[in-house]
Amino acid sequence: MADPKGFLTTGREVAETRPVEERVKDWNEVYVPGSLLPIISKQAGRCMDCGIPFCHNGCPLGNLIPEWNDYAYREDWGAASERLHATNNFPEFTGRLCPAPCEAACVLGINQPAVTIKNVEVSIIDKAWDSGDVTPQPPERLSGKTVAVIGSGPAGLAAAQQLTRAGHTVVVYERADRIGGLLRYGIPEFKMEKVHINRRIEQMRAEGTKFRTEVEIGKDMPADALRRRYDAVVVAAGSTVSRDLPVPGRELNGIHFAMEYLPLANKVQEGDFVAPPITAEGKHVVVIGGGDTGADCVGTAHRQGAASVTQLEIMPRPGEERNANQPWPTFPMLYKVTSAHEEGGERVYSVSTTHFEGDEDGNVQALHLVEVEFKDGKLEQKPGTERRIPAQLVTLAMGFTGIDRSNGMVEQFGLDLDDRGNVARDADFATNVDGVFVAGDAGRGQSLIVWAIAEGRSAARGVDRYLTGASALPAPIRPTDRALTV
Ligand SMILES: Cc1cc2nc3c(=O)[nH]c(=O)nc-3n(C[C@H](O)[C@H](O)[C@H](O)COP(=O)(O)OP(=O)(O)OC[C@H]3O[C@@H](n4cnc5c(N)ncnc54)[C@H](O)[C@@H]3O)c2cc1C
Ligand code: SF4
Repeated sequence: MADPKGFLTTGREVAETRPVEERVKDWNEVYVPGSLLPIISKQAGRCMDCGIPFCHNGCPLGNLIPEWNDYAYREDWGAASERLHATNNFPEFTGRLCPAPCEAACVLGINQPAVTIKNVEVSIIDKAWDSGDVTPQPPERLSGKTVAVIGSGPAGLAAAQQLTRAGHTVVVYERADRIGGLLRYGIPEFKMEKVHINRRIEQMRAEGTKFRTEVEIGKDMPADALRRRYDAVVVAAGSTVSRDLPVPGRELNGIHFAMEYLPLANKVQEGDFVAPPITAEGKHVVVIGGGDTGADCVGTAHRQGAASVTQLEIMPRPGEERNANQPWPTFPMLYKVTSAHEEGGERVYSVSTTHFEGDEDGNVQALHLVEVEFKDGKLEQKPGTERRIPAQLVTLAMGFTGIDRSNGMVEQFGLDLDDRGNVARDADFATNVDGVFVAGDAGRGQSLIVWAIAEGRSAARGVDRYLTGASALPAPIRPTDRALTV
């Protein structure tokens, strides 16, 4: 234990954000660069090294949090980075984007503000990159076995890096024009600048992983060709089918899935467009869906100069404190004010959209909603609460329903799906098809980056065992554990 009195003498401090009026004029990350380093060692010293670190269990990766807190407290950044990478391939992604279920499970959090675990994590990895400690780790010898990974999101990248380091020849196939999955084209720059993905890909290339973009398995390359060419396959294709809202007026112009809207804003930052083909500029924007994807639409609309932004959520507003159903150390569903919400806009809870209204040119102009409430476990409309709000751009951010089946990949492989429409798998992340494994949202359903990395690592172990009969890669997590899916 680094500082036996740290938790008594030091209060919780988190990364400082830039002023709202400054940050909505650019797309850079919202944090003040360099603001963490002066405070982070003392923050790490708040860790009590409590003997039974519940944070390990809270983190789907099983990150060795007290160990790297100790090194961070002592400013031994090299050792901290080594401990961090022992369980996490990409801490710069999770340190920026993870909702930190570890902090919900922190023992100090029982009666004090939890340790700022996520901030310590991102400080360690940023320092490691700055000091040149993150270097390629190519395998010492090759196994002669080949693996295809379908999808380059965090699950595919984690699986590919683990398998390459284990000595297999790995090729990642990605249907998009750039590598990264939702890290690249879902998550906006202001949450994570894409330089963080680019330098990991450089590291992976130097280790020997190969990448093929603009190849959609099922469509551009049939599944049987892939199976003939490779000894094993990891399906890490995500859960990319957006949930629709089939109400009257849905066909009007200006109503888009969030994943039609957000990637275009990211492509502007990549230099593909001067201006986004779909923009919120000067428009009244309504975002339907109260989760992270919705918040990303809110922050994007602010930066594009929306006239107003309203976010609708069908469920009631969550509480600000844990209730009896969500005791420590579970990850509670609490009212969250994200950086996008700090920047403005209105959030409306317990409402349902009844229909959209358009002009004579077929462009959406307004949205009609009604308040709803739960009665006997069923959601019912409250009579007399209908109202109309102006809307010239509507984004649908109501989640995803499963793996994309439009390209024929699932059928070509002959993959069984579970009752939620995700690819079924066993404890080794193997599907019903010999030599075909699944990781991330494709098997788990829409989830989190930390789970995608954890599953990618675990599937890699399953593949390694399948190919060689044994594996020195880390032990898998439980594939059916959905307790922390948010
Ligand atoms: C807008 C948005 C914001 C989010 N924000 C956060 C956040 O802040 N924190 C967090 O923890 N989680 C967040 N999530 C969830 C998180 O991004 C996902 O859980 C995670 O990316 C899943 O990783 P994955 O590798 O399984 O799939 P994905 O990241 O979806 O990657 C799958 C990849 O497979 C490719 N692909 C699909 N089919 C094929 C095919 N047939 N051939 C070739 N390639 C194919 C796709 O193009 C895609 O690139 C967010 C999700 C969205 C949509
Ligand atoms: S990956 Fe997420 S849960 Fe794990 S230590 Fe980092 S912030 Fe916490």
